[in-house]
Amino acid sequence: MPETGSKTASVIGSGPNGLSAAILLARAGYRVTVHEANEQIGGGARSSELTLPGFLHDVCSAVHPMAITSPCFEQFPLAEHGLEWIHPDAPLAHPLDDGTAVMLERSIDATAANLGPDGDAWRRFFGPLAERWPAMKMDLLSPILRIPRKPVDMALFGMHALRPAASLARSLFKGERARALFAGVAAHSIMPLDAPASASVGIVLSTLGHAVGWPIPRGGSQKISDALAGCLRAEGGEIVTGTRVTRFPDADLIFCDITPRQLLAFPNVRWPKSFRQSLESWKYGPGVFKLDYALDGPIPWNAPECLRAGTVHLGGTLEEVALWERHHTGKPFVLVAQQSLFDPTRAPEGKHTAWAYCHLRNGSTQDVTRLIEDQIERFAPGFRERILMRSVLAPADLERRNHNLVGGDINGGAFNLRQLIFRPTARLYRTPVNRVYLCSASTPPGGGVHGMCGYNAVKAALGVSVQVAPGRPITPLIR
Ligand SMILES: Cc1cc2nc3c(=O)[nH]c(=O)nc-3n(C[C@H](O)[C@H](O)[C@H](O)COP(=O)(O)OP(=O)(O)OC[C@H]3O[C@@H](n4cnc5c(N)ncnc54)[C@H](O)[C@@H]3O)c2cc1C
Repeated sequence: MPETGSKTASVIGSGPNGLSAAILLARAGYRVTVHEANEQIGGGARSSELTLPGFLHDVCSAVHPMAITSPCFEQFPLAEHGLEWIHPDAPLAHPLDDGTAVMLERSIDATAANLGPDGDAWRRFFGPLAERWPAMKMDLLSPILRIPRKPVDMALFGMHALRPAASLARSLFKGERARALFAGVAAHSIMPLDAPASASVGIVLSTLGHAVGWPIPRGGSQKISDALAGCLRAEGGEIVTGTRVTRFPDADLIFCDITPRQLLAFPNVRWPKSFRQSLESWKYGPGVFKLDYALDGPIPWNAPECLRAGTVHLGGTLEEVALWERHHTGKPFVLVAQQSLFDPTRAPEGKHTAWAYCHLRNGSTQDVTRLIEDQIERFAPGFRERILMRSVLAPADLERRNHNLVGGDINGGAFNLRQLIFRPTARLYRTPVNRVYLCSASTPPGGGVHGMCGYNAVKAALGVSVQVAPGRPITPLIR
């Protein structure tokens, strides 16, 4: 075990961003302690037997294009600590009512071949992006308010990314298939598809489908957190579970893997009024209603090609997806993952798991179990007969399990144009207390399992002027 210095760092929260920050701080010579409220580490990257013994479910994140390409995770020997990626045959299927499915394949040509009149347009748009991804990814996963490493690439990306997803899809593609495929991917932004910048997430995730795939970890997303924890312990860091931090700990540096609302709740700090007001005006995004299933067999899709995909988007046409994401009326846009088709560790032999959720307004108490299952039945008649057991997690249940999921918001705050740039304030990771940093999904680049919020926060702290000397008196803002 490497020697650690006398400088101390506390990290509040063991989500992927908190653990990433902790590893980097330990590498920088800090004696690091991570404090986690739950007994189980990992925050949004956890797995558990939510239904029946032997059925392993991803409590939150399931599919990880951002993790496999993350410049932060690339620095950690995660494979040595047990992380193994599985690539389903195809990243994504989007079934339609005609009994076929539009496929996002790893190969751009194979994808183009199932898009009818829009094959060439898809190839022209996503081909160069997939090729340029390795050069662009650091810019795209960093704060917007900085000079990009690849300004020309970023200007071209920004031109499209700042547009509403629906209008970009309509201008790029003539046919229903390509429009529907792009709309479903863009809906991961959890923004209405007519909102400015809703195209950005659609462009990035579609590009990643070609550039790096949409993999799942063997043994569940908990394996990502366990591997990060393994890296941290190898650097001399420790993790204390089952303790919710309610006051700022006494440490030279404090990294908060929490959202603005919780930061405001700490009693032993007097934030300057302007900072407090900025945090108070932070907007949380729509919530999530999540179902997990133990199944007697695979989902009986009408379109058999859906069985080749790790993720399946159920929403029909672009117009239907857009209606749900704007008003949460009509038929829900449902995201399904079917991990057990590709990872036998998830269910007993011959049995299967499914993971499904849709977006609702923040804090909604509506029970949409029947609506979600109707939508699955629409594309997979007979699905209900395969259900052995279901787990239901409404927005309030998610928040109870992880206080960062305010009102069921899985991104630590809405992705609107303002909050994409000033996330959560113009200070980004910094706070007015010079030893306290934010490093959660409420900072750039936002939600997803990638650790880049932790990485950028440590860079902000150690790369500039905030190397805190041992024994330095506590800043007067903290009582
Ligand atoms: C249902 C769902 C599905 C998702 N699907 C995907 C997906 O497929 N792919 C993907 O990339 N992302 C997905 N995400 C998003 C992803 O999980 C999050 O964006 C990511 O986990 C955010 O990481 P984080 O480190 O910022 O915070 P979190 O992972 O939320 O971790 C925060 C941790 O801090 C702890 N904590 C909070 N307050 C305190 C306190 N006061 N004291 C001590 N500990 C505290 C919490 O218990 C938690 O463990 C999904 C999320 C959900 C909920």
